[in-house]
Amino acid sequence: MSKVLETRLEIDLNALESNFRLLKSYLSPKTKIMGVVKASAYGTDSIITGKHLVKIGAQNLAVAYIEEGVKLRKAGIEVPILVFYPQLEEIQNLIDYQLTPSVYTHRFMEGLIQELSHHDIDSVGIHLKINTGLNRLGFELSELDSVLKHLNSEKKIKVAGVFSHLAASGSKDEIEFTKSQIAKFEEARSFFKNHLGYDFESHICNSSGILNYPEAEFDLVRAGIALYGYGNNPTEHKMLKAVASLKTVIAQLRTIQKGDSVGYERKFKAEKTTKIATLPLGYADGISRIFGNGKARVLVNGKKAPIIGNVCMDTLMVDVTGIDCEEGDEVEVFGKNNTVIDFDIEQQTIPYEIITRISQRVTRVLV
Ligand SMILES: *Cc1c(COP(=O)(O)O)cnc(C)c1O
Repeated sequence: MSKVLETRLEIDLNALESNFRLLKSYLSPKTKIMGVVKASAYGTDSIITGKHLVKIGAQNLAVAYIEEGVKLRKAGIEVPILVFYPQLEEIQNLIDYQLTPSVYTHRFMEGLIQELSHHDIDSVGIHLKINTGLNRLGFELSELDSVLKHLNSEKKIKVAGVFSHLAASGSKDEIEFTKSQIAKFEEARSFFKNHLGYDFESHICNSSGILNYPEAEFDLVRAGIALYGYGNNPTEHKMLKAVASLKTVIAQLRTIQKGDSVGYERKFKAEKTTKIATLPLGYADGISRIFGNGKARVLVNGKKAPIIGNVCMDTLMVDVTGIDCEEGDEVEVFGKNNTVIDFDIEQQTIPYEIITRISQRVTRVLV
């Protein structure tokens, strides 16, 4: 069997649908759901996932970069696509493929105006991004007057949306801060409602925002991680179903004796007779070295097996002592039966990072 078939990322669209319905149940029926499919739909497959999200009722999609949006358009997806971080270099594609830019600097707005002067189109819709406390990207509240002035100087740019992003919507310790972000956002929103003379969509909630602050749903919500089966705290994880399952098979089994070592730098030393299995995936496939040396567990025939020694580029070894298994047996690295929370024993990182890191070398399979 080829490597490609042995290690695969299975995508479960029923789980995606179940997560979508759960999020929907938190929202008023008129609120639109924007499916966030950046980074290959959180490591799955942006076309498969994006198409299915549209099919089950997502009215909008969002990506990080213009190139990601172009890929969706070429696959025939026609719903509005918001681009969170459009780069000036790619701006012609933004226009040609009718993608909607998030706009958070005057510099980008100027670039957009320049580009539009070369195109025979009436107007382009943008979503203005407001910084309400994440301090990553967005216009400040103190800049709203100058933004309005810039907009009024250019008839070809229309505000289709105004939005902001929450810094800690999944954190119980930051409820006051989150509420202050929502209040600042409402201020910006009112400003544009009062001064633009036409209506637009407002949005601030990400996945945890939907689950914890449904009162701030506004016209639209941006659902990412929850669609893929994870949240930002244990309560949220429990309600959701993992969409991606990373599977492989045992490439080789061996029994080592007390004092024998495993892997590079001999980081694992057996204290007793130990049965080990070598799996054909490694850090080049997206399983970081931080998961070596007992920091993560995979599932072998229903039993948890810790990764031992250092993770190699194309392989890793697990301790299967006491587990009934043979070469060729299937292993769930993480997924439906071994969530990334179970896999990442010490929670060294977050589900977002684990699932988006699985490299393109790993074949995606629909189940
Ligand atoms: C990635 C992203 C989201 C989705 O966030 P989740 O926590 O995955 O739901 C929403 N909005 C913006 C601006 C993002 O960058």
